[in-house]
Amino acid sequence: MRLGVLASGSRGNALVIEHDGCMVFIDAGLSGKKHTERLHEAGFGDIFPEALFISHEHSDHVKGAGVLARKWNIPVYGSRGTLNASRTSLGKLPGTEVLENGTAVDFRSFSVSAFSIAHDATDPSGYVIEWDSGKLGVATDLGKSGPLVEANLAGCTAVVLEFNHDEKMLWNGNYPWHLKQRIASTTGHLSNSAASDLLGAVYHKDLMVCVLAHLSQENNFPHLAEKASREVAGGTVKIHTGMQDAPLPALDL
Ligand SMILES: [Zn+2]
Ligand SMILES: [Zn+2]
Repeated sequence: MRLGVLASGSRGNALVIEHDGCMVFIDAGLSGKKHTERLHEAGFGDIFPEALFISHEHSDHVKGAGVLARKWNIPVYGSRGTLNASRTSLGKLPGTEVLENGTAVDFRSFSVSAFSIAHDATDPSGYVIEWDSGKLGVATDLGKSGPLVEANLAGCTAVVLEFNHDEKMLWNGNYPWHLKQRIASTTGHLSNSAASDLLGAVYHKDLMVCVLAHLSQENNFPHLAEKASREVAGGTVKIHTGMQDAPLPALDL
């Protein structure tokens, strides 16, 4: 299994996973063309995606989804609430597939299941991808964790987790008061310390990779997120930090 982190942050999010030549997108929040460029830069240039999953309707997750679905003639998966709320930004699609939270779909050599997360969107989803030798959990854009998220991420060999903000930087920073409250709320975004608690809760000896995702460019620094993650994941987990303006090289999971 290979994971591509094409972009991560409030100006656009896109992941790809590829196993035995079968590739799917999770979110496509850049402009359509940028995804193709970054697929090449990350080392996925010669593979065509077979499906696109969207986590929720915010534009930093769906902006390029309609363009990509039409370009490759592939279906868009999401909860009914997400698909309905994204209809205008997605435009006319070759096909949609409802994947409600709590359900799963099988691809050739892996399965994708969706689970509910707390965020200010209609019916947002985290995702778990399972294949013969591993399990990847993806949880970005969530205001809080809890037993449901922890149960879904239990046993993951790799995780992509939101480390959005440093609480001190958020409260002392320049964002307007209403935006600070939105981000810090239980339907906003995970702080470094909340994300590190979640990572600590799902940590086990076979967790190999953690990608720190959706870092705020205003209210966080990569070294703060990395420090928070290392406090709980020790030296055994490979930590990578997703970037806004460049893809990470493909990660082998
Ligand atoms: Zn987002
Ligand atoms: Zn969001």
